[in-house]
Amino acid sequence: MLTKAPRGTRDLLPEDCAKWLHVEELFRKICERFGYREIRTPTFEHTELFQRGIGEATDIVEKEMYTFLDKSGRSITLKPEGTAPVVRAFIEHKLFNEPLPAKFFYISPCFRYERPQAGRLREFHQFGVEAFGSPSPSIDVEVIALAVLFLEKLGLSQLKVHINSLGCKRCREDYKKRLNEFLNNKKEFLCETCLVRLDRNPLRILDCKNEGCRKVLESAPVILDFLCDDCRKHFEQVKKELSAVGIKFEVDPGIVRGLDYYTKTVFEIISEELGAQSAVCGGGRYDDLIEECGGPPTPAAGFGMGVERLTLLLESKGLLKIDSWAMDAFIAIAGEEQREYGLRLLYDLRRDGFSAEIDVMGRSLKAQLKYASKIPAKYVFIIGEEEVETGKITVKDLSTGLQEKMTFEEAKALLKKR
Ligand code: ATP
Ligand code: MG
Repeated sequence: MLTKAPRGTRDLLPEDCAKWLHVEELFRKICERFGYREIRTPTFEHTELFQRGIGEATDIVEKEMYTFLDKSGRSITLKPEGTAPVVRAFIEHKLFNEPLPAKFFYISPCFRYERPQAGRLREFHQFGVEAFGSPSPSIDVEVIALAVLFLEKLGLSQLKVHINSLGCKRCREDYKKRLNEFLNNKKEFLCETCLVRLDRNPLRILDCKNEGCRKVLESAPVILDFLCDDCRKHFEQVKKELSAVGIKFEVDPGIVRGLDYYTKTVFEIISEELGAQSAVCGGGRYDDLIEECGGPPTPAAGFGMGVERLTLLLESKGLLKIDSWAMDAFIAIAGEEQREYGLRLLYDLRRDGFSAEIDVMGRSLKAQLKYASKIPAKYVFIIGEEEVETGKITVKDLSTGLQEKMTFEEAKALLKKR
């Protein structure tokens, strides 16, 4: 217990952190290029926010949330996704009074009680963006294009963009009725979970991975045939604009997304190499959510991208290379008599912006040199009795093995050159 992290969580060791940082920095850069600015929301929220924001009849709210009572009996939930908290912050801080659209991005941990497997954890991380205030199809396209450009810049170009439209409240109601009729006649072929979904949320059945259900769905009515004029026009325009900005896509009526709040455009970016956990990124438009959470009617669109799935994919393709890491200097001291002299140089270097370390393990000079080559360090500054007396230190270049005596100022100039 004590020496094992909880199921579904993982450590990022320094090497992993360096890789993640590289990916995060690129995500920030691309978001800023598109005019999105960072927002950070708390790790936990009132449970009601997610019940309302994600929808009661969804997998997340029904069985995946980390919900508990705090010491004063309030129901608290660790955030299972990033959109509802950003919506809450947008309303709480009245950001709707600022010039619109309001465009945010986040990098956040998320928590879902799921069965852990490759690419599925209980604590995972999402990159996400949200654009509030515009009903324009150009925003749907911008959100998709941002994700695609980011993935391309990471070196992933073989990913598939699947899009669909879920229509608005009105056209979806008609569709739900028809789908329900259709599925009611096929009850004997549906799995148990889907039988429950049939009454609560028939759209979720379209998402089922069960083979029997998949077979039934092959001949099921398709939502795209039920779109009202407005929704149809919107979808046509999204497709036109995606083509205009050079994004290849596939219309896939099977994309319904696991969250209730979507309207009109939904999309997923898929990698077949990820097996069952194939969706790297999912998102779409959710024009009713802000109003449902207590804000003024505000159209919106966004996506969430799983960082673990992304890094898994990058790793498998050898695309997660990081610059090799090295300290500028290691200060090796011949004995404890030279420590204070060495420390003065060490802190002078650190203050001047160089990375440097000194022996703290009581190693012999020989062992210090060996250690320095392992860290690795670029240079070793060797300080013995003579060095302290003459003010000239011995500088060893670990890449060539050559060493030379020089003043500390000269040694610093050497570091600056590298
Ligand atoms: P899935 O169908 O794989 O369960 P989802 O529809 O539940 O995904 P979303 O709610 O859309 O996922 O979350 C956005 C992204 O977050 C997903 O595309 C995926 O990359 C990632 N993600 C979701 N759940 C997990 C998890 N438990 N562990 C790791 N990543 C996850
Ligand atoms: Mg899920």
